[in-house]
Amino acid sequence: MPQAQNAPAMPGVFNGPPKGKYASGQNSMASPLCMATFLDGKPCMKAKAHKNVPYCDSCFKTGDPSLAVVPHPRFGESVT
Ligand SMILES: [Zn+2]
Repeated sequence: MPQAQNAPAMPGVFNGPPKGKYASGQNSMASPLCMATFLDGKPCMKAKAHKNVPYCDSCFKTGDPSLAVVPHPRFGESVT
């Protein structure tokens, strides 16, 4: 007997975080919004600037505000 298509999810089955956002509130890769976060942890809510780049125009140019390139004691530079 074929399984019903589009059956509702079983109760108690984990379906992951709401689509478009991670549990932290950061916009996900699947979201149409920028996935950068500010230093206070708030997500950047601008639309993505390019189809395959998960950042808005300003975060694409200046980098995710919550990330920084720092010197690494042994490996040159590191993203933190
Ligand atoms: Zn952004």
